[in-house]
Amino acid sequence: MARRRFTDKDRARIFANNNGVCHLCNQKIDGVREAWEIEHVIAWELTRDDSDGNLRPAHIVCHKRKTHEQDRLVINEAKRREAKHTGVKRTSSSLATKDKRAPKRLMKQLPPRVRDVFGRPVPKESSNV
Ligand SMILES: [Zn+2]
Repeated sequence: MARRRFTDKDRARIFANNNGVCHLCNQKIDGVREAWEIEHVIAWELTRDDSDGNLRPAHIVCHKRKTHEQDRLVINEAKRREAKHTGVKRTSSSLATKDKRAPKRLMKQLPPRVRDVFGRPVPKESSNV
């Protein structure tokens, strides 16, 4: 289902139904000087609800902030949950499947140790094992 495009008639109706008040900051919207949009009270991506009951006018600025700070997080969480339930998302990462008990062997010979773990110089003959 595609996202509904609102007509001027829709915008006029939603604006009037809410007395031209931005439902996010509760300030009156100056339709001449301030840009506003129709906003979904509950994010469209969650409910696909385009009925007037879920629509309110909101300043573009307020709307952007809400989308960014609230809706995005809820939508992402819902998508994660859905992916988990449908088995779309695999639970183990490539890191998790590696056997942590068997570290990769070092193939290259290291240069002889010059200092021991205490930072003391190591005598030449005992530096190479
Ligand atoms: Zn506002």
